[in-house]
Amino acid sequence: MSSVDMETIVSLCKRRGFIFQSSEIYGGAGGCWDYGPLGVELKRNVKEAWWKAMVHDRDDVVGLDASILMNPQVWVASGHVQQFSDPLVDCKACKNRFRADHLKETKCPDCGGELTEPRMFNLMFKTFMGPVENDAAVVYLRPETAQGIFVNFQNVMSTSRRKLPLGIAQVGKSFRNEITTGNFIFRSREFEQMEMEYFVKPGTDDHWFQHWLEQRFNWYVKLGIRKDNLRLRPHEKEELAHYAKGCYDVEYLFPMGWSELEGIANRGSYDLEQHSKFSGKDLSVFEEESKERFVPYVIEPSAGVDRSVLAFLLDSYHEEVVEKEKRVVLRLHPALAPIKAAVLPLSRNEKLVPMVTQVHASIRGCFMTQYDDSQSIGRRYRRQDEVGTPYCVTIDFQSLEDKQVTIRDRDSLHQIRIPTDVLRATLLAKLAGEDFDVLPPGGSLVSSAKS
Ligand code: ATP
Repeated sequence: MSSVDMETIVSLCKRRGFIFQSSEIYGGAGGCWDYGPLGVELKRNVKEAWWKAMVHDRDDVVGLDASILMNPQVWVASGHVQQFSDPLVDCKACKNRFRADHLKETKCPDCGGELTEPRMFNLMFKTFMGPVENDAAVVYLRPETAQGIFVNFQNVMSTSRRKLPLGIAQVGKSFRNEITTGNFIFRSREFEQMEMEYFVKPGTDDHWFQHWLEQRFNWYVKLGIRKDNLRLRPHEKEELAHYAKGCYDVEYLFPMGWSELEGIANRGSYDLEQHSKFSGKDLSVFEEESKERFVPYVIEPSAGVDRSVLAFLLDSYHEEVVEKEKRVVLRLHPALAPIKAAVLPLSRNEKLVPMVTQVHASIRGCFMTQYDDSQSIGRRYRRQDEVGTPYCVTIDFQSLEDKQVTIRDRDSLHQIRIPTDVLRATLLAKLAGEDFDVLPPGGSLVSSAKS
């Protein structure tokens, strides 16, 4: 399990500007969260890492950005209007509401009161399109991004001149009126998903399903999640949707136990068949080589941005003792770290200012940096450790003489001293994975450092 409890992460997120309660000055908005200056960088980095792995690094996947509001028929065809519901029970005494399938006991867990019979509660948020607020104007905030992909399948197929297998990837907001939210950003009412629909020829689906199970599991591992805290759990028969051929959840060992990060399903041809039926449009494809026409099967890896952010925060959190002092460090993968390098002048002495300004300018714009000149250097290192900054660059009076700066590595605490004109290239190399102790021309290892 991650070595930290949820309260510690929630408090760090608030204190350091990762995540705030939504509309906090008005007492909050249930199940909604705002990402602050560091949180928004982390979240963007998670989405970019996903997009890179799913779209840029492959030649069989393209991207899409569909609108949140869609024709309401989409949600009739997909089954959401009929079936996207959870069983809701009310406590007759304290009036609190719960999801019946999440309760272990038959009494209210808050006050012990009697519960009502479960009734089905649809999780889609409704609103109205246009000026008239009547039944005909009802539209839904999308509860998943996937349907935007299915309804654009034909557009993308024909305009991108691709053959199967073809994946269409999308990242965006989804909304679910969850009965009970909780566990910080794990279950909220407004969240972001990273979904990909991979369209394949029927018969090749088992192969691609295995492929995506491996790819998705490894994505989390490559970005630093410990394998012990990650598992692939196959769905039981009762959990499977009637049309699904198979489904696995990628689960992380959160402080509240194993919980879903991502679902990976073999959905057969269900979605395209449904949209064909309801729209009257033929969504089959013709394969030149075999002269066959068929409705593609689809493999769907569907991940949550916010749950990934939470898992990366929990898994990277470490407390240790350095030089008899407690050090909190987020060992975030450099690709995810909100700030890549901090520029720290040893003092505020004005003699240092021109060089510090020049050094900062030489790396700003390449990646996210932060300048900090307040309080002792030790404290400034700790502040950067706590938000996961991989490298701190310090400029001292010696730097004025030898035109060199010191870089400190967050994880090993090693320090190297290098010429300023190779700083940018050196940081880029380290961020891309070069061993910290590899020295650029003119560089040297600083021996005494351990802070
Ligand atoms: P759960 O069983 O936890 O409600 P789900 O099976 O309904 O999740 P999916 O419909 O498979 O979830 O959605 C895909 C992904 O979207 C989930 O794995 C999760 O990461 C994310 N997700 C779904 N609901 C929420 C939510 N309310 N808050 C944050 N992320 C969510």
